[in-house]
Amino acid sequence: MTKFVYAFTEGNKDMKDLLGGKGANLAEMVHMDLPVPPGFTITTEACRYYLSNGQEPEELEAEVTRHLEAVEEQMGKKLGDPEDPLLLSVRSGAKFSMPGMMETVLNIGLNDESVKGLAAQSGNERFAWDSYRRLIQMFARTVLDIDGDFFSDALHALQKAKGYSGDLDMTTADLQELVEQFKGIVRRATGYPFPQNPRRQMNLAITAVFRSWNTERARIYRRREHIPDDLGTAVNICTMVFGNMGEKSGTGVAFTRDPSTGHSGVYGDYLVNAQGEDVVAGIRNTLSLKDLEQLDPVSYNELMDIMKRLENHYRDLCDIEFTIQEGKLWMLQTRVGKRTAAAAFRVATQLVDEGLISAEEAITRTTGEQLTSLLFPQFQRDAQRTLITKAMAASPGAAVGEVVFSNEQAEARAAEGAKVILVRRETNPDDLPGMVVAAGVLTARGGKTSHAAVVARGMGRTCVVGAEDLLVEEKAGTVFIKSTGQTLRAGDVISIDGTTGEVFFGAVPVEDSPVMIYVSQGLEAALEAAGDDVDTCELVRSVDRILTQADKSARMHVRANADNPEDAARAREFGAQGIGLCRTEHMFLGERRELIEHVILAATPELQEAALGALMPLQRGDFEGIFEAMDGLPVVVRLIDPPLHEFLPDMTKLAVEVATMEARGQQVPEHTRTLLRAATERHEDNPMLGLRGVRLSIQIPGFVDLQVRAVAEAAVACRKRGLDPHPEIMIPLIGSDKEFRLVADRARKIIADVERESGYDLDIAIGNMIELPRAAIIAEKIAEDSEFFSFGTNDLTQTTWGFSRDDVEHEFIPTYMAEGIFDTSPFETIDREGVGELVRMGTERGRKGNPNLTVGICGEHGGDPASVHFFDSVGLDYVSCSPFRVPVARLEAGRAAVMAKGQESGAGATA
Ligand code: PEP
Ligand code: MG
Repeated sequence: MTKFVYAFTEGNKDMKDLLGGKGANLAEMVHMDLPVPPGFTITTEACRYYLSNGQEPEELEAEVTRHLEAVEEQMGKKLGDPEDPLLLSVRSGAKFSMPGMMETVLNIGLNDESVKGLAAQSGNERFAWDSYRRLIQMFARTVLDIDGDFFSDALHALQKAKGYSGDLDMTTADLQELVEQFKGIVRRATGYPFPQNPRRQMNLAITAVFRSWNTERARIYRRREHIPDDLGTAVNICTMVFGNMGEKSGTGVAFTRDPSTGHSGVYGDYLVNAQGEDVVAGIRNTLSLKDLEQLDPVSYNELMDIMKRLENHYRDLCDIEFTIQEGKLWMLQTRVGKRTAAAAFRVATQLVDEGLISAEEAITRTTGEQLTSLLFPQFQRDAQRTLITKAMAASPGAAVGEVVFSNEQAEARAAEGAKVILVRRETNPDDLPGMVVAAGVLTARGGKTSHAAVVARGMGRTCVVGAEDLLVEEKAGTVFIKSTGQTLRAGDVISIDGTTGEVFFGAVPVEDSPVMIYVSQGLEAALEAAGDDVDTCELVRSVDRILTQADKSARMHVRANADNPEDAARAREFGAQGIGLCRTEHMFLGERRELIEHVILAATPELQEAALGALMPLQRGDFEGIFEAMDGLPVVVRLIDPPLHEFLPDMTKLAVEVATMEARGQQVPEHTRTLLRAATERHEDNPMLGLRGVRLSIQIPGFVDLQVRAVAEAAVACRKRGLDPHPEIMIPLIGSDKEFRLVADRARKIIADVERESGYDLDIAIGNMIELPRAAIIAEKIAEDSEFFSFGTNDLTQTTWGFSRDDVEHEFIPTYMAEGIFDTSPFETIDREGVGELVRMGTERGRKGNPNLTVGICGEHGGDPASVHFFDSVGLDYVSCSPFRVPVARLEAGRAAVMAKGQESGAGATA
């Protein structure tokens, strides 16, 4: 029989699939003998059963009863007992953290009777009634789907009527009155009284947590974070401990190190006399943990000790939730904490220095996405700028945009292409759609662990929180700046700095980030630019150590796609180990387009040869420059690829031009007529599937002669200058081994000619691209004569799916993503089971045909983190990507190799 319920004593941290992150880590803390209130976890499997069958598994009820009885026995209390009630929390917890996206109900077990028992037992009537009103409020919203505003409006109305400034002013009598009002709201909204039976409360809450897996905001969050939709959530049922019992109680959230800088130390927020969600909801501004040290040194010291133990145990930065009930500390949650990109690099190297992890493991603690975010520009330090306010830096970056106040405004303006900053008093999980499209988020309340901060950090959104100087009137659409009396309105442009917490009027100009300076100019330059900014120096040193280690650990090489000497030089600075794709057609654009036009229009073979000849010195010069920039490293030159009409003026435009001139009785120049004739002749309905790639080289062999000779002669010229060029010739869009052989033989002959003429032995490898499914299928035959393969996954995705790469990404891929057919566009992340399978097969078959075959990939996927891991797993020799993505690909190639080793040895490096 399937086991659907696990006591906290039965699980451990590696059981996240079944128990969710929270459940698995609660169990781990129990094993570490930390103070965790007793409880149990209902598995994600039970949730999946519920979601597919619309009801709980039959045996669940009895299993829950057994575990509940065990907890009751341990606590010496019964759930909802009128004399001395055991109270429970029911909390969601999926495998991957989805902060605030799903539901939680606290204080289960309170009713009209047990509230009196709780008051008597605790000797604190106010606390008991406060807990009861919280239960009704949370239960109504999450379980009964009643709009939460009814309750907060009633609460605020009461506070206003009595002239109170906040929750803490409310008396027992006020809370009793509120409970009556809340019960009335429930009855009016549902037609039934608030459920009094404790067990029924618990069962309904469990079902509500299951259901919350599929709320709109949870779905949006999963899509963004690429979390599969079919995992389900676990449900954690835990004995309540109370942070709202008075001045000696409270609740807090903490990190074992600073999640924005990585500095070790105490970082967290604490709220006196408060419960659960109060801290993250940002309802009241919080105290720091340092304040806790003053308030309750015993609990504080115990907390510090536990945080140290957790960090040593998990060997990583952890975040925790805790509650202090009348001086007794309880741990409610821990997990490996989310952190900013800068902190990820710094923490990883700090942990190496502290001897907790190896240098190889350190690279798995960072990601390509994090590195990408560190390469973004930042605000210019000495730019003219006017400060509005300085608040808490919650998620780094430099964001400029128009002020918007709601999801609707944010989405509407973003759809029109505007950059927006979502400004809110505080954010709650419903604001997610607005945060997704915003460049940055600014809130007036809340701390570093508020919902806005946590979610923004997770998404890599720039975020500033707790800007108390701002009075945000969302309904009125204004932000009143208290200190100056000025007002901002929707549409006004502001700049927010998530690294310093500063907010500025207008658009502040941006400059290269320190990490960008590091990857483009090296460590010395970055340190010099950072000056005496210790944090920045530490960051660039960490990035340097991690990238150096990644290069050491990587099995695959990283090359760049570049087609001019400047890009090649830049790619080399970024750490590229060669050029994997030089698109030669890019050399025929601009002023040179006309030279190609002459080739196309040439009336006789002689004229065509002459036209090609005119291109020769130019091509040779291009290659010489690139070989020089990549001296000593391989440079893959691809023969011309696109259909020829791309080099002619547009056929329709020409036709209109001619027709207009004719209608006006003007003389049409002969050249225009010739162009129109050529364009019409060359016109193809499906140019992507037409005369391009190798087909062009077969149709007009003069191109092969020109390009191969230019490559070979450029290599000779470099050798004469004492350089060490390593050109390779690549033939695109191969579908048959015969096509390949025809062109390759011609190229080899030209290389041999140049070798003879010059007396240099050039050793130029000739290989081909795999861009058609047929090529992957017959790869063995092609490889017999080919020295290397490079997967052109842009075309391979296009031809495998039958998707036009120029059209579908704006046409219907967004719909496919919304419908859940795709998590990401297959043009962005390799489609493993389809296109990826062709890559795997093509590689295997190719190596059968030629055991020495070098295999790379040069489509856009070469710089995509998830795809890089896939290419490592199928054994490619290199990935090639645009220069800007080279550092990310280097990091991911290193991570992929280390993680693969970890899997082999069963060590399981962290993703
Ligand atoms: C490809 O098809 O993946 C490729 C690299 O070639 P291009 O993008 O130039 O067609
Ligand atoms: Mg291609």
